[in-house]
Amino acid sequence: MAAGSVTVLVIAAGSAGLLQPLEWATLDLFFRLRPLEPPDPRIAIVTIGESDIKKVGQWPIPDAVLAKLIEKLEAHHPRAIGLALYRDLPVAPGNQALEEVFRSTPNLIGVEKAVGETVAPPATLSKLDRVGIADLLLDADGKVRRGLLSVRNQGGQTKLSLGVRLALTYLQAEGVSLQMIDAKKKHLQLGKAVFVPFRGNDGGYAGANAGGYQILLNFRGGEDNFATLSMTDVLENRIPPEKVRDRILIVGAAAPSLNDVFLTPYSSSFKGAPVPTPSAVIHANLTSQILSAALDGRPFIRVWDEPVEALWIFLWSVAGAAAGVQECLFVAACPLEKHSFLTWAIQAFCTVLAGGALLISCYLAFLGSWWVPAAAPLLALTGSAIASSAYCSRKWQRLALVDGLTLVANRRHFQESLEREWYGTLAKKRHLSLILCDIDCFKSYNDSWGHQAGDACLQQVAKAIAEAVRPTDVVARYGGEEFAVILPNTSPEIALQVADKIRKKVNNLKIDHPQSIAGQYVTVSCGVASAVADCKAAPADLISAADRGLYEAKERGRNRVILQELEISKINFPGHPYN
Ligand code: GH3
Ligand code: MG
Ligand code: MG
Repeated sequence: MAAGSVTVLVIAAGSAGLLQPLEWATLDLFFRLRPLEPPDPRIAIVTIGESDIKKVGQWPIPDAVLAKLIEKLEAHHPRAIGLALYRDLPVAPGNQALEEVFRSTPNLIGVEKAVGETVAPPATLSKLDRVGIADLLLDADGKVRRGLLSVRNQGGQTKLSLGVRLALTYLQAEGVSLQMIDAKKKHLQLGKAVFVPFRGNDGGYAGANAGGYQILLNFRGGEDNFATLSMTDVLENRIPPEKVRDRILIVGAAAPSLNDVFLTPYSSSFKGAPVPTPSAVIHANLTSQILSAALDGRPFIRVWDEPVEALWIFLWSVAGAAAGVQECLFVAACPLEKHSFLTWAIQAFCTVLAGGALLISCYLAFLGSWWVPAAAPLLALTGSAIASSAYCSRKWQRLALVDGLTLVANRRHFQESLEREWYGTLAKKRHLSLILCDIDCFKSYNDSWGHQAGDACLQQVAKAIAEAVRPTDVVARYGGEEFAVILPNTSPEIALQVADKIRKKVNNLKIDHPQSIAGQYVTVSCGVASAVADCKAAPADLISAADRGLYEAKERGRNRVILQELEISKINFPGHPYN
């Protein structure tokens, strides 16, 4: 029960997006913990760093320099060059030369920004249909975890991203091309890879914008995990040709001053400020992900369908509930107080252990490229453990205070309540009254009808007493067939009336008792006592006064109520009603 409701709560919190930051944080951690794969031999990044800009003495880099850079790279026969720089406007000098290079380099792809505030592609490359979109998808925490493969513009035309265009150009030489295998679900095949589009609630996401064709990025690493060439080295012919030949080259800005950097799962913020990644490295990751999936069968990040995720959360919720319930078992086996800390400690230990097992299993799944939610089941686990242990301890606490047969308070609860009321009610200068009721001739009732009938009679009488008093009064089973009622804030006169109400109510139950010497039905005799403010007596004196009243009621023929005063000797205050 607890597990089910905790699961519903956790799933609701997840759908509201409350757990997204935690799910992202665990995913990011898993990326950083995962051993790095070797760099992709098919890709190199041509970086334009701070020293390169200084050398050129200008930013944006003049068209002439860019033209020369592309010519030098092309001379070593790369398979494709991605120019991950927005070059919608000419930068003199050398515009003519760059246009010429654009035209004469068939494997060169330029970029545009297609979503939100757009940036046009270089006009020449656009005319030649050699442009990819360079838009990156940022999550609410500013990190890039998804790659955009394509978007459809308002004219219904599909625009591929830079990574896709570069990968397709590369794969063309291998004879691998893109095929639609399920048009309805938008499943695409490319060599060994099957693309499944990202949905807004995949993995730890909740209601993300899944526009265009997106996939979860299965990062290969940061800048360090890609081969890089500096622009100056290329311009000054210091690059061995094999570093370029047959590779995809991505030319991008890496100088911190250009700020073309984004946060990724590798941008840990545990120690100091998070280190961002140049956008060219993110394009390289997407390109590498597509290539290695198509050629090597490297898996994408896979996720479970939502019903499976819900089941996963439920199972951990059940585990949490079990950790909580073991407390019940311990309490059942041992006395309550002595073991409460031990049971709590065992439960906490079990929960921590289960939480560790959960995180480890999520990480192992991640090593197999599955993104299994961790935060939601962790919350379900702890929530259920707390809920079930609270429920159990409440239940045991109740059991420790309730009489099992009649379900009114037991003797222990009576004693505690009387003392609490004595010091509480009297301190507020209010009356505290007590009624003791004893079933008349109950021994002979048992003798005539048997013990089971006797038990049923006790239950009926207890119920009748409880119904005759206020909900704030405490009804307790004081002995075998004796009941006590604590009446806070009640004068002796009212207490007498209440006792008589009880007596009548029991009589009106009309439980046949032919052997009774007090009447034809089961009846009770009651003793009543009352104390007032500043009373110097003890709770025991109130009980013994009520007991004397009960004794007198029995003496006088049963089925009646008698008020008895507290012992005068123990009362020492002026104006006491019994003085
Ligand atoms: P009196 O009117 O003087 O109170 O007579 P009595 O027979 O009620 O008093 P006595 O104390 O002699 O007997 C009480 C009886 O209550 C004895 C016992 O068998 C019965 N009794 C006590 N507890 C239980 C119980 O839990 N179930 C049943 N069936 N009987 C009980
Ligand atoms: Mg009796
Ligand atoms: Mg008795």
